[in-house]
Amino acid sequence: MKFSEPGHEVEVVVVGAGQAGLSGAYHLRRAGWEPGRDFVVLDGSPHPGGAWQFRWPTLTYGRVHAMNALPGMALTGADPERPSAEVIGEYFAAYERAFGLRVRRPVRVRAVREAGNGRLRVETDAGVWTARALINATGTWERPFWPRVPGQEAFTGRQLHTSRYRGPESFAGERVVVVGGGTSAVQHLLEISRVAAATTWVTRREPVFTDGPFDEEQGRAAVALVAERVRDGLPPRSVVSVTGLPLTEEMRRARESGVLRRLPMFDRITPGGVVWDDGRAVAADSIVWATGFRAALGHLAPLGLREAGGGIRLEGTRVVRDPRIHLVGYGPSASTVGANRAGRAAVRGLRALLSSGSVRGPAPTPEEAAEAA
Ligand SMILES: Cc1cc2nc3c(=O)[nH]c(=O)nc-3n(C[C@H](O)[C@H](O)[C@H](O)COP(=O)(O)OP(=O)(O)OC[C@H]3O[C@@H](n4cnc5c(N)ncnc54)[C@H](O)[C@@H]3O)c2cc1C
Repeated sequence: MKFSEPGHEVEVVVVGAGQAGLSGAYHLRRAGWEPGRDFVVLDGSPHPGGAWQFRWPTLTYGRVHAMNALPGMALTGADPERPSAEVIGEYFAAYERAFGLRVRRPVRVRAVREAGNGRLRVETDAGVWTARALINATGTWERPFWPRVPGQEAFTGRQLHTSRYRGPESFAGERVVVVGGGTSAVQHLLEISRVAAATTWVTRREPVFTDGPFDEEQGRAAVALVAERVRDGLPPRSVVSVTGLPLTEEMRRARESGVLRRLPMFDRITPGGVVWDDGRAVAADSIVWATGFRAALGHLAPLGLREAGGGIRLEGTRVVRDPRIHLVGYGPSASTVGANRAGRAAVRGLRALLSSGSVRGPAPTPEEAAEAA
């Protein structure tokens, strides 16, 4: 492993250039830190767009239900028929250029450790950076969650997770079981049911459909639930898991036709399908696991940030065990609007923290200093 090279000593490293990382970078720059000199953004993905670049082509921009633009630059005039991967990838690329954020990619952070002198050592596949603080914005896409079910290995059909879903075509004529109670599961079902011989929807809990997009009040209440878990040091649930499923016209029709009739979680998988302890059985050629994601935080393990409850306790975006580290896009901020706000909050916190030593960035406003005290 190489040691920190000239130019690799910065005030802040931002890990990840999705919505959360770019919001953090924007606010760092706005606060007076210079990209490339005072902070660096390291992104493991090949192109701009964060996880959006990997989403399936049939997830068009028009089907993304509540995408908030990044701070400081609107996303206007996008064709709703184009894949969101393209629309948002191009928008992020333009954003990075417009604000000169100088994102380094593909650079994968392998581990973050103590470097001594209060600094952090950020080890990557492209060298080592040291920093006084870190904004972690690595999202969840790279940690798909698969529940374990007895018999899973014996299934002779195909199993795939949302993270590998590329559209319905390959399911033509098949019997498909879709597992999961979120928006992704519903979107997979709507698409696959048009070409498959049969679909079965299975969820752990009864899905809660809400009428139309949730309002601000419901959104806030949902975020507060996730925030409470994070404050208690528990692993977060996804924001979407507590907002319910806003009914669209397409979903209403699918409910009427029976496509969104749901069964409880099966108990076992057999070579040819899924079975319940009460004797019910469904034959399947494919099982699609739309069972969500977990935070991709393995690189932070050497810092020992986890609590006994298995989560990382946060105050706002700041890690309670290590105030040099902020998690953005994590738990309550795992949405585009949450990620925007978290980027701003993290920078506000870091301005206060870093101004207490030799820092090139500007001193905090009196309001920020009071908040950090
Ligand atoms: C299918 C789907 C649809 C969604 N639709 C909506 C929606 O309609 N509205 C909404 O508000 N939210 C939606 N969300 C949630 C939303 O996409 C995210 O919460 C939001 O984009 C924030 O992204 P992020 O920056 O936290 O992470 P990401 O976009 O995942 O970006 C993380 C970046 O970090 C990089 N990275 C990860 N690990 C490392 C590492 N070790 N080293 C270097 N780089 C690393 C990744 O390569 C990636 O580029 C959706 C999520 C999914 C899965």
